[in-house]
Amino acid sequence: MLVKKILITGGAGFIGSHLARRLIARGDEVTVLDNLFTGTRSNIYDLQDNHRFSFVLHDVTQPFWGQFDEIYNLACPASPIHYQRNPVETLKTSFLGTMNVLELALKTKARVFHTSTSEIYGDPEIHPQPESYWGHVNPIGIRSCYDEGKRASETLCADYAREYGIDVRMIRIFNTYGPYMHQQDGRVISNFILQALRGRDITLYGEGDQTRSFQYVDDLVDAMVMFMGLPSETVQAFFEKRGMRIPVINVGNPDEYTILQLAEEIMKLIPGCVSRCVYLPLPKDDPRRRKPDIRLAAELLQWHPRVPLQEGLSKTIAYFSQRM
Ligand code: NAD
Ligand code: UDP
Repeated sequence: MLVKKILITGGAGFIGSHLARRLIARGDEVTVLDNLFTGTRSNIYDLQDNHRFSFVLHDVTQPFWGQFDEIYNLACPASPIHYQRNPVETLKTSFLGTMNVLELALKTKARVFHTSTSEIYGDPEIHPQPESYWGHVNPIGIRSCYDEGKRASETLCADYAREYGIDVRMIRIFNTYGPYMHQQDGRVISNFILQALRGRDITLYGEGDQTRSFQYVDDLVDAMVMFMGLPSETVQAFFEKRGMRIPVINVGNPDEYTILQLAEEIMKLIPGCVSRCVYLPLPKDDPRRRKPDIRLAAELLQWHPRVPLQEGLSKTIAYFSQRM
């Protein structure tokens, strides 16, 4: 098989490190470019000595150069506490980072894979959310730096595709979890698991009746690699047949849980867990419900998430227990 040269921006983060491992295992040459804002060297420690792996410490808001066959664009903090820590940087990372990726692709004819998010749907009025839904997003709220940044980066990808003919594929990722999430990530699954393992209070925001649909990281990486591997003509024909010029699909697990149900599942999986649930104020603009419509991904990729919540949680709990 032909060895591909692949760049992953944000590859020292949670999802990027899984993707890097998968591509190296397949035989590709992988360069990770990351400024370690939320990623860590320990996430890619096992790859450091591999001759097909290299790491570049760099901020995507500054231009970069390299000849690659494929670029996966993941650089962007994803957890609300991190993206809200420095909101202007978050916006710059989404917009300038994506523009720098697209400019590089334009000069080098690389294929681009952009990771967008379910957050572009905001607090959705349609449930579950199909790709055709334009969203319900507050442009000036505390989540906007991320939501609007990702919306603008989708627009950039769409316009570089239309105007310059770049081969760009986008996915809207729904809440994804698994090993290598940062311990101080602040997202609900890592928070609850660490709280439950330490016997501390489980912090439910609001009434705990808001919902999310949680996807295990291996299912996501399967879909990413399959989508990127499709020939351009196949992708083009699939989307044109459906009246869509720009290839974008939702990728997530449609099994929907309330946040309280999630807390209960996690406590059940930790024998002797002594934690109790406490209720804290709901953060501003927190979406009420979220569930992906994954029919497009299923048709295009013959893909369906395979890891049920309990199995994925058990693997993630095992990872965090080992780290503690
Ligand atoms: P993460 O925070 O673990 O990874 C993001 C990576 O990007 C980190 O390694 C970070 O250091 C790097 N980064 C941030 N700003 C950068 C900059 N300016 N220059 C270079 N590197 C930078 O988050 P993740 O969960 O792995 O998310 C990866 C991608 O997937 C993000 O684009 C995110 O928006 C998207 N996504 C994730 C989820 C999820 O549930 N995990 C959901 C939707 C979308
Ligand atoms: N959440 C919670 N307790 C926590 C962390 C998060 O109740 O300790 C809630 C949060 O308010 C949201 C849901 O869990 O409704 C998912 O939050 P997360 O930050 O993981 O992802 P996002 O809000 O971006 O979907």
